[in-house]
Amino acid sequence: MKNFDVEALRHDFPILTRKVNGKPLIYLDNAASTQTPRAVVEDIECIYYTSKANVHRGVHCLSQEATAAMEHTRERVRAFIGAASTEEIIFTRGTTESINLVASSFGDMLEDGDEIILTVMEHHSDIVPWQLLQRRKRIAIKVVPILPDGSLDIEAYRALFTPRTRLVAVTHVSNVLGTVNPVTEMAEYAHNHGAKILVDGAQAIAHLKINVQEIGADFYAFSSHKMYGPTGIGVLYGRKELLEAMPPYQGGGEMIGHVSFSGTTWADLPFKFEAGTPDYVGAAAFARAIDYMESVGIDAIAAHEHSLLTYATERMLEIPGMRIFGTAPGKSAVISFLIGTAHHYDTGILLDQLGIAVRTGHHCAQPLMETLGIEGTVRAAFALYNTREEVDAFIAALKRIAPMLM
Ligand SMILES: *Cc1c(COP(=O)(O)O)cnc(C)c1O
Repeated sequence: MKNFDVEALRHDFPILTRKVNGKPLIYLDNAASTQTPRAVVEDIECIYYTSKANVHRGVHCLSQEATAAMEHTRERVRAFIGAASTEEIIFTRGTTESINLVASSFGDMLEDGDEIILTVMEHHSDIVPWQLLQRRKRIAIKVVPILPDGSLDIEAYRALFTPRTRLVAVTHVSNVLGTVNPVTEMAEYAHNHGAKILVDGAQAIAHLKINVQEIGADFYAFSSHKMYGPTGIGVLYGRKELLEAMPPYQGGGEMIGHVSFSGTTWADLPFKFEAGTPDYVGAAAFARAIDYMESVGIDAIAAHEHSLLTYATERMLEIPGMRIFGTAPGKSAVISFLIGTAHHYDTGILLDQLGIAVRTGHHCAQPLMETLGIEGTVRAAFALYNTREEVDAFIAALKRIAPMLM
């Protein structure tokens, strides 16, 4: 494992030196968005100042540079997730758009009476697109429940399969519970029963080493802004045979072979699924974020976050009335909690006054909240730049505010 010097790494993130409400910022909202290192921001600035031009259509130098930069990122992403070819890497606006693409396009190939399997811990972006599909196709949605520690009930998962099951759509890591789902095993089971599997990798991609082929994922979706990259850009990985069989998602420029009023043909992969001008600046700078993560080392990042998770969990349990949601073995560095009967929102507001950024609410997972019998939680999530001292400050803040809330 590489040498991990968190203080040195923090210098790469200028935002971490700012103050909030007169206190040093302690940023623990990393499951919603991570901060962006200087190298990525400088890359964006450099592109705007020296080489901004639309991709693909140009014969001129700047357009060719822009195209090369975006295609360089496509290759970086391919290697980063172990995909077989760059034709399998589609740029989207993010995880949400990636899943909508599959629900719309793969969904088009489903027939009335077909079934898909989701889990109760899915983010709304892996629920609502399938419900929208239900307005076009009479498909059934089945839901895998969880066990008390927040892990998936795998026996129940297996029992949901029928000869009509076409697709499983599951989050790799829960954005609320931190549970890491056994997606490789789930993929194998789905494939043995004639179904495909989509994995929502939004919470996994910055914390686990991902190899889509080893997982056996047919689709894998994620967002750059949760992996130290720019906003507005994300990825859908799809297996080539599937993407080839699927109809386009949106129509427009760049996704066509030839357009005429008597019939239009589609461009080759991956462009068939990239209608219109993409966020080519974001796409270009995204490569730097991947470079950054690899230079630090995914294993080193994961080990650092895990030690913060263990330490923070132990210390939080010192606080009377502390309730932590999600205790599955091997969980990711996300802690959802409530203090006694205190409202999550009040806890969040008081922490903000002390300079500590956490997320409060249902975390776009209302069905999960319903299962847990709560309305929302407070969520602290760690990234590579968080420190033990920040955890100490967080615990001290919780100890200070807990008596005010009870
Ligand atoms: C954040 C998140 C999403 C949505 O990602 P966007 O970048 O908002 O499209 C989907 N699933 C999970 C598990 C997430 O954490």
